[in-house]
Amino acid sequence: MPVQCSCCGEKRAMLKRPKTGHSVCKDCFFWAFEEEVHETIVSAKLFRHGERVGIAASGGKDSTVLAHVMKVLNERYGYGLELMLLSVDEGITGYRDDSLETVKRNQQQYELPLKIVSYEELYGWTMDAIVKQVGLKNNCTFCGVFRRQALDRGAIMLKVDKICTGHNADDVAETVLMNVLRGDVARLRRCTAISTASEGEAVVPRCKPLKYAYEKEIVLYAYFKKLDYFSTECIYSPNAYRGHARTFIKDLESVRASSIVDIIHSGENLSVREGVKMPVQGTCNRCGYISSQALCKACVLLEGLNRGLPRLGISKHHRLHGKILARQPLTEKEERKLRSENS
Ligand code: SF4
Ligand code: ZN
Repeated sequence: MPVQCSCCGEKRAMLKRPKTGHSVCKDCFFWAFEEEVHETIVSAKLFRHGERVGIAASGGKDSTVLAHVMKVLNERYGYGLELMLLSVDEGITGYRDDSLETVKRNQQQYELPLKIVSYEELYGWTMDAIVKQVGLKNNCTFCGVFRRQALDRGAIMLKVDKICTGHNADDVAETVLMNVLRGDVARLRRCTAISTASEGEAVVPRCKPLKYAYEKEIVLYAYFKKLDYFSTECIYSPNAYRGHARTFIKDLESVRASSIVDIIHSGENLSVREGVKMPVQGTCNRCGYISSQALCKACVLLEGLNRGLPRLGISKHHRLHGKILARQPLTEKEERKLRSENS
């Protein structure tokens, strides 16, 4: 017997909401999903009327749903936001070139301006070239550090007041778990924040309107709305550690759907004891980006790439690294040591 929608009681239920277990029709699902994002935006006061907002767009399901829902809500509730898409081209042939085609179609479909910033233009390196040099072990470290800065630089070029990203509840829960397992208190505190205030001139505030949206619901929303998105994984994706955290959370979710928000809430409620030393944010001596060290991570990684020493900035702190970064000459013995570490 067909099940009636538990929300409107009129139409036939088409799906069971992964988040609540309710059987609902398509329209009631769309409405509930959008209203929950609206509720997140309003209760956390994510935007102010008249702001220019860059939507970090990769062409994947999360950012495509984010762009779609932001546009719907901006019109429905008169947020008064000027929305635009901001994409990063990491230079990954066979992956990012294709997903950027999706973003370009989204630009047409949603009639939003689009800006693409590339690693090649910003750093002089594509991820293809970086992988050739560093291999497939630490590539995501380079990519993650460079992306964070690239988004900021793109946002500055677009003169946006804020960037919103497509991080969903599953992503946040995974990050909470990984930071707990690593004992990384500073990151734990940052990863649960729904928005980051500007941490310096070079950083544009970011927020996560999909923070409480379940990945499974994002997939259903994109599927039933027939949104145009790109679903292939990055060809350089070895991120094994996150993969385990992901599988673990999916297992928990299958036993109890609320596990995802429960993990987020516990992350939010963990507080740092008074007197615990936290990194002090300053700015990078070379590029001016925020950094708790004299040089930001991107500058250290870039220096390593440009000198053919890709492990600089990845391997454990080495007293030689300080000398290199200060551009002090090395002895022959020190040179040899570095070469062997990086070969
Ligand atoms: Fe970059 Fe790694 Fe993500 Fe690929 S999987 S886009 S290399 S961070
Ligand atoms: Zn720097």
